[in-house]
Formats: sequence, C-alpha cells, structure tokens
Amino acid sequence: MTRKQALKYGLVGVAGVCGAGAVACYLRSALNSRRPPQVSDIPPLTEKMWDLWKKRGWSREARHYVRLEEGIVKCLLCPNHCLLEPKQRGRCSNRINWDGRLYTLVYGNPCSFHIDPIEKKPLMHFLPSTGVFSIATSGCCLRCLNCQNWEISQKRPEETKDASGDEVRATPQRVNALTMQDAARLSMFPEDVVNLAERFRCPSIAYTYAEPIVFYEYMQDAARLAHEKNIKNVWITCGHITSHALEELCPLLDAANVNLKSHSEEIYADLNAGRLYPVLEALKILKDHGVWFEVTNLIVPTYTDKTDMIRRMCDWLLENIGPDYPLHFSRFHPAFKLTHLPPTPLDILLEARNIARQAGLRYVYIGNVRELEDAETTFCPRCKKAVVERIAFSVVGFHLKNGKCGFCGESIVGVWTA
Ligand code: SF4
Repeated sequence: MTRKQALKYGLVGVAGVCGAGAVACYLRSALNSRRPPQVSDIPPLTEKMWDLWKKRGWSREARHYVRLEEGIVKCLLCPNHCLLEPKQRGRCSNRINWDGRLYTLVYGNPCSFHIDPIEKKPLMHFLPSTGVFSIATSGCCLRCLNCQNWEISQKRPEETKDASGDEVRATPQRVNALTMQDAARLSMFPEDVVNLAERFRCPSIAYTYAEPIVFYEYMQDAARLAHEKNIKNVWITCGHITSHALEELCPLLDAANVNLKSHSEEIYADLNAGRLYPVLEALKILKDHGVWFEVTNLIVPTYTDKTDMIRRMCDWLLENIGPDYPLHFSRFHPAFKLTHLPPTPLDILLEARNIARQAGLRYVYIGNVRELEDAETTFCPRCKKAVVERIAFSVVGFHLKNGKCGFCGESIVGVWTA
C-alpha cells in the first residue's frame, strides 16, 4: 500500500504502530462503514408513521416508476433503478413501495430552507446580487464519502421531521417566528414555497442543499407554480437522474449548477456510489433545452486531484458543451467519512484553473477559498479585464452593460437580468 492509498483509507499513523493483521482488520471495517446502503438495509416505515405521513399530505404517488409482478415496483427516477418489494424503500430512503405503488415521503416537508445569495449556489452568471429562496428535504440518491450536507442527505424523512402533534403550516406571517419544534413539524407545500419567495422578494427559488432529484414531485409542482408568478427555478444537483425525468423537468428550469464529481466511472463508484455517464448525459440535455447551467467540480485530495483526469474532464466539457458554460473548482474540507483528509491545497486548485483555461473554457472559478482575490472574478474572454468582481459571494464591482463587457463590448454569456 502506498502512502497515498494509506491516506485515502485513513491509515496514516495506524500502519506504523499496528501489525499487518490489525491493519487488515481496520481496513475491512473502514470499507464496510463506507458501503452504500442497499434497499434491504433501510428500516421500513411503520403503519403508524405511514398514517401520519398520509394525514399530513407528505406522501404522494411518485411520477417515474413501473409496477411489476407480485407487488414489486421499479423506480425510474435516478439511475439506481431501485427494485422494491412491498414496504421497501429506495436507496435515497424517501421513496417507498406501499401496496404495490411507489410514493415519495418528502412532499411539502422540507427539512431546511433559507435565503442565500445566488452566488453561493454557485451561479455567477445568473441574476447577480439577488437572493434565492432555497429549500431541501432529506435524502440523496448518492452516498458521497465527502458529503458536506450528510446530516440531511443521509437521513430518512422521519429522522428530520416530526409528524406528531398539530400541523405547522409555512405561511409568510408565521415563518419568521418558528421555534425548532415548529420547524420539525413544518409543512411547506408548493404554494407556500412560492408565497414565501414572493414575500421575501426573491426572484428565484433554489431546490438545493441535499439532492432535489429525490424530491422531484415537490420540486416539479413548486416550479410550475413559480413560473405562473414569474419566479425563476434553480436546480442545484448532482445530475444523477434518468433522461426522461430530466426531459420532463427542463421546461420548468431556468438555471442549474451540476456537481460533476469526477471524470471517472471508477471514482464515481468508489467516492459517490453513483455513475458518471448519466451525469454527462444530463449536461447535454440541459444544453439541448437551453437551460443556463454552471458546473462544479470538487477537488478531493487522493480521489479527484489527478491532473490528467481534470484535463480529460475539461476537454470533454469543451467538446460536448462548449467554452461558455462556467466551471467552478471547489475546495474540499474534511467532512463525513473523509475527515482524515486535508483540505485541498491551493496550488492544486490553481493548477486545475490553468488546465481549464488552457483547454479553452472561458469562465473558470475557484470556490471555498479566501486567500485568492480573483477566485470569484469574471474576466472578459477578449480583453481579459475584470467585468464582475466578487468577494465572499458579494458583487463588489460590476462592469457589464446589457450583458456585454463594459471595456471592449464582448458578449458575456449568462442571464443578467430577471
Ligand atoms: S430516486 Fe433513485 S435512489 Fe431513490 S428510489 Fe428512485 S432509483 Fe432508488
């Protein structure tokens, strides 16, 4: 085992003091704890809990699945394609086979909501300096070892919400005075989401934080109502979705940030318990539908920091998507199962930015760093001047006129006004 492999599995410092048997034992247990949950591992929902969920309106029939023989259903929402026997739940924890039909358990019950600057998503070329009303439910179709939001993404709905007691409805009047107990019982149905976005004067709603694919029906209904009120929809996602589900969603989307986790099927399997191919397809579908999107690539030491892979990823983006969709390299911070790894060194992030620029990508950013003054700056691809300067998600200099560089007149792609 090389030092790099030892670092990857958290064995640095252990190998030196233990015998080979102890190391093998440690490695086995470390790997077991990283095993993604299988459908059979997820505890079933009790009848009582199901009744409470139904009463609240938090369970709704899913929109992308097929019914098979003997009460089995197959979820067609994400490429995991979970095959579920009666009462079983999908790998995301929040889809369940109940009496031979598939239900979502997270309709109208977000476990998190907030107003963020749009730059934090990150979206640098979409309605700059605006606030975005952001919601999330529990659950995720992936299992990233480095997940920053694992406290919601790796939880079951009943671990983040409480269906006992009286309902608390998210009205604009009530939402500012919520206690922690209220928040756990909060129902926020699609019309409430839109009312709240309006109340807080947010021109867009973000489906974000954990993974909105697994609250698809809730997102789709909120997005439809948002468009009726001229509010835009922003999808912050891993992109691990089936093509037909995404095609159906695209007309409701105005912007997206897709987390392209690596350019390797092996690393996707190892680090994220997912697949690369469907994510690449999702990027092509978004482009074909004219949805504005930006791509984020988190550089995780020992996993996704190889320069040849970063180069392949940039070449793929250039060839298949073109030079104008922004790419964000993001710094890893130790989290979830990878607390033993160091934060991404700054020189690797700078090298990645150089590789992307040399490949021909026009807008390249670095996220989660404080040391670099120009990490979040948009440069004109023609005259190279700074046209939008940002510090810590705030725009501090804006030199665009009608979407064109204020110095040389070059068009800067994006959605600059609502
Ligand atoms: S969304 Fe994905 S992980 Fe969840 S049940 Fe469907 S196929 Fe499984």
